[in-house]
Amino acid sequence: MSNRELHCDTCEGVRPFEVPPCADGHDPDCPELVCTGCGTALLVAAFTLPAAGLAGEGRRPASRPRSRPDAA
Ligand SMILES: [Zn+2]
Ligand SMILES: [Zn+2]
Repeated sequence: MSNRELHCDTCEGVRPFEVPPCADGHDPDCPELVCTGCGTALLVAAFTLPAAGLAGEGRRPASRPRSRPDAA
């Protein structure tokens, strides 16, 4: 079983998420999960890499107001 219960912003509640069919060969380690309620895909790489907090910023994007335009 590779289902996980996570909060879905689209469903506005906790839903069971499952690993989608992966074309990249990640198998059960695929960082993607799909909401079984609405089909929204989430990237949840953080849950397999608990110590990688400084390298990526995919933990809680909703808690940080994004006011900088991407002017690179
Ligand atoms: Zn994958
Ligand atoms: Zn959902």
